[in-house]
Amino acid sequence: QYAELKDQPSVTKDGIAVNLLLNAGLRVDLMHLDHTGAIGIGLFRTEIPFMVESETPTVDRQQEIYATVYERAGDRPVTFRTLDAGGDKVLPYWDAEESEENPAMGWRAIRVSLDRPALMRDQLRSLIRAAAGKTLRVMFPMVTEVVELTRARRRSQLMPSTVRAGVMLEVPGLIFQLPALTKRVDFISVGSNDMLQFLFAADRGNPMVASRYDDLAPAAINFLGQVARHCAETQTDLSLCGEMAGDPLAAMTLIGLGYRNLSMSAPSIGPVKAMVRSLDVGALESYLSGLSQSPAHSLREKLRAFAADHGVMV
Ligand code: PEP
Ligand code: MG
Repeated sequence: QYAELKDQPSVTKDGIAVNLLLNAGLRVDLMHLDHTGAIGIGLFRTEIPFMVESETPTVDRQQEIYATVYERAGDRPVTFRTLDAGGDKVLPYWDAEESEENPAMGWRAIRVSLDRPALMRDQLRSLIRAAAGKTLRVMFPMVTEVVELTRARRRSQLMPSTVRAGVMLEVPGLIFQLPALTKRVDFISVGSNDMLQFLFAADRGNPMVASRYDDLAPAAINFLGQVARHCAETQTDLSLCGEMAGDPLAAMTLIGLGYRNLSMSAPSIGPVKAMVRSLDVGALESYLSGLSQSPAHSLREKLRAFAADHGVMV
C-alpha cells in the first residue's frame, strides 16, 4: 500500500504541501530515497561515517563519502549535520577524555567543533569540495546560544555563497534568542529527540524516565508552536528531524502547528504520507488552538479522537 503512494504528492486534503524528507547516516540509507519517494535528505548524520572508520577520516576520505551522498541524491536537496560526536557518541580512535557524568549535556556536537577548529574546518572543506558548486546545506547540532553560530561561521572562514548555514534547535534555551537567531540563519531544524529530553529534564535513553513525559504534552506542543509561529513571521525555513516527525499522530500535530518540512527514517515516510493525504489542516489548526491552555499530562487522546472523527489515518 505504502509503495503505491511513493509517487503520489504529499499534499493535504485542503491543498497544503508537506515535504517529507529522509534521515540518513550510512550509505546504505541512500537507496531509500528512491524506495520511499522522499524529496531529499533532511538530516545526514555525519558522525555515523566517522564512527565506522578506524581513524579520523582525512579531508579526501570525507570528501569521497559526502560526494557519494550527493551523487545518490541527484537533484534532491541534502542537509548535512556537522559532527555530533562526543558525549555518548565517542569515536573509538579519539583519546579518551575524562569520563563525563552527564554526557548528553557534556562536551559534544558544536562544543567539540568549536574547541577543535581544525576538525571543523576539515569537515567543512570536505563538504564544500564534495558539493562541487551545488548548494551546500550545513547545520550545526546542539547550538545553545547565537554566539556559537557566529563563532562557527567565523572559524570556518570558507563559506562561499553556495553555503546555506542552519542550526538544530535542540537546546530549549535557544528559543529565548529566536529573534537574534532567525536574523542570522538560513534555516532551523528542530531536533525533537534532544529538545524533549532537555525540556522535560528526562534522559531520552533511560526507560525509567524516557516515557514519563509525553511528546504530545501541552508544554511540548506550546514550545513547538512558538517556534513555528516565529519562523512563519520571519519567513525562516523550518523543519523538524527528530523521531516525532515519523509518528503519524505527532506529524499530524506538527502540521497543525505550522510545520511543512518533516524529516524521518525511511519506514515512516509511507505511513506519514498516508496521514498527510487524509488530513484537513484548517480544521486541525482551530482544534489545536483551543488546547493550548490545557492542564493535562498529554493531549494524545484528544488528538487521536480528532483524527478518528475526521478520518485522518494515524
Ligand atoms: C534530535 O535530537 O532530535 C536529532 C535528530 O538528533 P539525534 O537524534 O542524532 O541526537
Ligand atoms: Mg540531537
